[in-house]
Amino acid sequence: MRTVICGAGISGLALAHRLAAPGGEVVVVERAPGPRPQGYMIDFFGPGLEAVEAMGLLPAFERAAYHYDEGRLVDQNGRRRATLRTKSFSRGRLLDLLRPDIEAVLAENLPAQVELRYETALTDVVNRPDGVAVTLGDGTVLDADLLVGADGIHSTVRRRVFGPEDRYLRYLGLHTAAFTFDAPDVHAATKHAFCLTDSVNRQMGFYALRDGRVAAFAVHRSADPAIPDALRVAIQRAYTGLGWVTPRALEQCPPDEEIYYDQVAQIELPEWSTGRVVLLGDAAYAVSLIAGQGASLGIAGAFVLADRLAQAPTIERAAAEFERLWRPVVEDKQRNARSMARWFLPSSPTDLRIRRIMLGLTRVPFVTGYLSSILAGKDIRLADVMRQASGAATEPAVA
Ligand SMILES: Cc1cc2nc3c(=O)[nH]c(=O)nc-3n(C[C@H](O)[C@H](O)[C@H](O)COP(=O)(O)OP(=O)(O)OC[C@H]3O[C@@H](n4cnc5c(N)ncnc54)[C@H](O)[C@@H]3O)c2cc1C
Repeated sequence: MRTVICGAGISGLALAHRLAAPGGEVVVVERAPGPRPQGYMIDFFGPGLEAVEAMGLLPAFERAAYHYDEGRLVDQNGRRRATLRTKSFSRGRLLDLLRPDIEAVLAENLPAQVELRYETALTDVVNRPDGVAVTLGDGTVLDADLLVGADGIHSTVRRRVFGPEDRYLRYLGLHTAAFTFDAPDVHAATKHAFCLTDSVNRQMGFYALRDGRVAAFAVHRSADPAIPDALRVAIQRAYTGLGWVTPRALEQCPPDEEIYYDQVAQIELPEWSTGRVVLLGDAAYAVSLIAGQGASLGIAGAFVLADRLAQAPTIERAAAEFERLWRPVVEDKQRNARSMARWFLPSSPTDLRIRRIMLGLTRVPFVTGYLSSILAGKDIRLADVMRQASGAATEPAVA
């Protein structure tokens, strides 16, 4: 079987791993000129971690991971207002990893049969009953048995095959940005703990990195989903006045091409596949950064899809089974993220206070279990989904 995967992000690379088999041919096309450097920290846990372990990549993930003892909500003067115990919400092991580091581990460990082509954009798709023709930016056409669109929330494959983005994208009222910068004073102030400003309608978070740089992450409310033209200027305008180390971070904010910037949104499609084209990861079911599990669901989704492609008699059947198994999992996370948006970024001083109280309660083990089900959604085990896939499960994976 010849598969073209569009996108060398976390989902596309994970799928390439799982599909590489003797006799199979896998081509990954990625429009970026090389590995994308724009980074933000990812809390990686749940089914994605189980998938990584099954793929034999857990030691490499652990080597790339950062270790923060806790998260802190910090006021304008740098005083701690509350403690965030992210590990208690993950109900198990959690690794903190930079997005580019996850992609690097996946890319470096790709089986030799996989062909990874950077600087190669997919521009068009013809989906026929017996195969798919993929047109690339230079006019070349690749013929394949299967095309997987793992090309992110603004997927070209989805637009060409399923229709315009506005039909499927649900804007959640927030913009987000991420960048890394050099500032030894900020690094010293944020060492050992992830720090987040305790602020209304906009917040900035900081992670001190091994190499002395700092990774900043920012999110603010905006009624207008349009992405600004000048990113650095827009960020400086949106986050001015937050106090503490934020003026230094804004001063050190890099040029636009080194900034990650996007709307916070979810993707909801009535179907994830048609004929020989299947969508995966954010392209099919972005859950948003509020859910904090998109990377995990991208890798675990790749694991489930690859399993079905190996087991089902036809591509169409495999795609349908993948969706039957995986859709309830992601829909739960999407619903959960929408209901948590209020606490992810409080919009009033009252909500800010309530959030502090809720975080204080996470010290109590019994309450933590209850809160984690509210914050992170249902406890999903990839092993349960796989048992269900093989028909051996007696209970659904999503209770
Ligand atoms: C600030 C922030 C924080 C987050 N925190 C977390 C977290 O804590 N935990 C977690 O699990 N998730 C988190 N996420 C979500 C997670 O990062 C995403 O869900 C995940 O990276 C999606 O991976 P993907 O491979 O599906 O898509 P993407 O990462 O978007 O990759 C798509 C790839 O396709 C390529 N591409 C696009 N179009 C084309 C084309 N036409 N031709 C060729 N290539 C193309 C792109 O260049 C890109 O490399 C966060 C997201 C953000 C923004």
